Amino acid sequence: MIPGRRIVIRSFGGPEVIETGDFTPARPGAGEILVANRAIGVNFIDTYFRTGLYPQPLPGGLGSEAAGIVEAVGPDVDMFQPGDRVAYVSNYPGAYATHHLMPADRVIPLPDDIDFEVAAAAMLKGMTAASLAEDCARMQAGQSALVHSAAGGVGSILVPWLKDMGVTVIAHAGNAEKADMARKAGADHALFGPFDSLANDVKTANEGKGVDVVFDGVGKDSWAASLASLRPRGLMVTFGNASGPVPPISVLDLSRGGALFLTRPTLFAYIATPEEYRDLAARLFDRIRRGIVRIDIGQSFALSDAAEAHKALEGRRTTGSTILLP
Ligand code: NDP
Repeated sequence: MIPGRRIVIRSFGGPEVIETGDFTPARPGAGEILVANRAIGVNFIDTYFRTGLYPQPLPGGLGSEAAGIVEAVGPDVDMFQPGDRVAYVSNYPGAYATHHLMPADRVIPLPDDIDFEVAAAAMLKGMTAASLAEDCARMQAGQSALVHSAAGGVGSILVPWLKDMGVTVIAHAGNAEKADMARKAGADHALFGPFDSLANDVKTANEGKGVDVVFDGVGKDSWAASLASLRPRGLMVTFGNASGPVPPISVLDLSRGGALFLTRPTLFAYIATPEEYRDLAARLFDRIRRGIVRIDIGQSFALSDAAEAHKALEGRRTTGSTILLP
């Protein structure tokens, strides 16, 4: 087999634990395919696997999505053949590599009109945005939503997706430039700055009322502001930990907020079957093709510079999606 390169971590910690090393990709076994990655998505979840917030055996890999070309197929695989263009998301880290072994039924054929970089930038973040808006919150035209980190990877796709559904979108971002990006992506209102005054600003923007749904990937720092931004019986969708995990809560907080609903979704629970996975990917490709969402690759790094990519992401210095090129 051909020699490959991949990212390895031998201990949990900061970006400094990220190493690049040579490896020989394994031959695919039954039900598997080997993908030669052409572009790899960087996601905040990769930092959780690096720090150990999400545990994994060590030494371990990083990376949960990529796009590339099928290099080899396992003995019983008939869905794919070498040379096919594909993309995938994975709940087991390891995509930060020139080659990655995947179960064939967890890989999506990549349409010719979607290039590798866009697919790597869009699969995990775009399918997350789609599942949050349509399958988790099941938003309806005329409803309102607050979207945090609205210029980030998930946020920059979620904002136009919700707008296309007829939702009034109030975006929040860390600074004025990012808020401006969210406004250009279609947000009706784009707020920025500290979380202390956010609930008041949201209500001012939303005719004096709380919003129907909050989409919160920030976690710890925004928790209280998010709950306070909801209308009675509103839905809190807390889907990430960019500022740290939400501490244990009292369910009475939901009662005090006005009989609030709370969910903590993960994409992989919404694409558990191959049918759900392919359906969500098809919805994403459709929105990209029709220009409803624009995949903004804000920055790209060489695979060997993955640590720099993590520093930028955790330092809030990225916008849109970040990719690695092997
Ligand atoms: P982003 O590109 O959105 O980057 C994270 C953003 O979080 C930053 O740019 C920053 O935006 C904001 N932020 C606020 N506070 C902090 C902080 N203290 N440190 C770092 N960032 C902070 O990342 P992704 O699009 O990859 O992911 C967004 C969120 O979605 C993450 O929490 C991720 O875990 C979650 N996610 C969840 C999934 C699921 O299945 N549940 C799947 C995919 C992603 P700003 O400066 O504008 O505030």
